[in-house]
Amino acid sequence: TAAVLALHDLTSLRKAEKMRADFVANASHELRTPLASLVGFIETLLGPARDDEPARVRFLGIMRDQAGRMSRLIQDLLSLSQIEMREHDQPSEVLALAPLLRDVAAALEPQAKAKKMQIRLELSETVPPVAGARDELMQVFQNLIDNAIKYGRAETQVEVRLGERDGGWVEIGIRDHGDGIPREHLPRLTERFYRVDSARSRDLGGTGLGLAIVKHIINRHRGRLVIESEMGKGSEFMVRMPSVPEKSKTSAAP
Ligand code: ADP
Repeated sequence: TAAVLALHDLTSLRKAEKMRADFVANASHELRTPLASLVGFIETLLGPARDDEPARVRFLGIMRDQAGRMSRLIQDLLSLSQIEMREHDQPSEVLALAPLLRDVAAALEPQAKAKKMQIRLELSETVPPVAGARDELMQVFQNLIDNAIKYGRAETQVEVRLGERDGGWVEIGIRDHGDGIPREHLPRLTERFYRVDSARSRDLGGTGLGLAIVKHIINRHRGRLVIESEMGKGSEFMVRMPSVPEKSKTSAAP
């Protein structure tokens, strides 16, 4: 069995190695594309468009967007690597989720308004707290609500729900009214750079890393991510986390 075990380890090691190599290749490609476009526009501004004021203004706008895209990508790559490094130590801050969700929703209100959308909160105040890292959980809900706004139809609602489930679990659901996600894509959605429609994701300013970050943070919190989607109706992303019993809430205080 030792030989079988070694063989098995070798296979998973090779798989991990291949995933790492793919990731570096993907990340480089994602960064190279906006960089190539920036270099192209710089050449044009130094040459043909030098004295063309309206063209210059238009090109600078595009350049700002491309630079923004690079900067978001680098930010997400950094988040991902930081979370990976911490993956094995479990966060222990005791957190009430209702105020945290209200804060995230308030921060995303302008984005929702821009698409004439509304973020509707259905937060049960009696839900027990969870053990977590505040910044990381904020990032999870920010990414999920941000996606619900991006992929939801204009003038619809994004519903954010907080409730309790049997067996000591807390559930946070984020539901949108968008086009939905074809079933065959669901299992791969949290892979880095996996997108259902790459052009659409990029147009909307996506990096393709949001759900990978979400998944890593939830794993670190011993939670689960469940995705349900219906074509033409929309999707719901559910985060389930173990709750902290009231007792340890008081004993956790210094
Ligand atoms: P992105 O930056 O591209 O949005 P994510 O990792 O956040 O990357 O999501 C991966 C892909 O999953 C997206 O490109 C999109 O195709 C799909 N997706 C995520 N959230 C939703 C949603 N609420 N509705 C429809 N599709 C979604």
